[in-house]
Amino acid sequence: MSHAVETRRNLKSALQAATSALATIEDAESARLEAEVLLCHELRLTRAQLYARLEAAFTEQQEQAYTMLIERRLGHEPVAYITRHKEFFGLDFYVNPRTLIPRPETELLVEKVLSWTDEHRTPPGGWRIADIGTGSGAIAISLALRLPQATVTAIDASYEALLVARENCERYGVHGRVSLAQADLVTSISTVCHIVVANLPYVTRTELLALSPDIRGYEPLMALDGGDDGLDLYRRLVAEVAGILATPGLLAVEIGASQGEAMLNLARHAFPEAVIELTPDYAGLDRMVTVSSE
Ligand code: GLN
Repeated sequence: MSHAVETRRNLKSALQAATSALATIEDAESARLEAEVLLCHELRLTRAQLYARLEAAFTEQQEQAYTMLIERRLGHEPVAYITRHKEFFGLDFYVNPRTLIPRPETELLVEKVLSWTDEHRTPPGGWRIADIGTGSGAIAISLALRLPQATVTAIDASYEALLVARENCERYGVHGRVSLAQADLVTSISTVCHIVVANLPYVTRTELLALSPDIRGYEPLMALDGGDDGLDLYRRLVAEVAGILATPGLLAVEIGASQGEAMLNLARHAFPEAVIELTPDYAGLDRMVTVSSE
């Protein structure tokens, strides 16, 4: 009796093949990393488990499924949409194409809020925070977890985005302190807030045309399009927040690299007495404007 000889590829050679395929659309380091992330996702393994099993053979089904994931990525679909996960501020968030994928530079907003709350006395009843344009809820939930006394109102214009935020609130058990609302900027907020944080769409019309195919083809335009100069929504936001910000109070917004001066001017106009700062991200690009009213 003879047995068919199994000549299936092992994980190591599959990883190598996927890495070289992905290197046609991105740098070698990202290609390797993404090939690993997608393989771990497919096989439900941690990275350490994957490394312990590199010599193991694929089943035919696994190999086909992995090839399909790599093909989706070769079509520029972002890895976070394929795996439905994105890490932000050390937490794992559910994401889908109805929300922007949280970016590492947006952690600056969370860090700024936390350092500001460290420097100020917690008000009786805790901090009241509004996260405008919450998307997946990454900022709101990171803050709620780090500030257990805080209550957060998380607003988005998109109902589908709020469903994603709701799933993340439930995952982290903060649905009692993070209330979600579909609204236009701060119009639905009737109480004074101590902290308003916002990562609104700020990409200019010209920049939209030049976005990478990963972003342009897959991420929601509604979460990116900021009008001609990218500041359409921020112009309205800053004026509206002037009416609801407590003293002391903090407004922290994420901006595009070319918008620092324009955003500073908007902020100075609406908050003539406040301390206003422009902060670069870790790549040295202007990324955040903060308004602290004392
Ligand atoms: N940072 C995003 C980008 O790189 C833009 C996010 C936004 O518009 N708020 O495209």
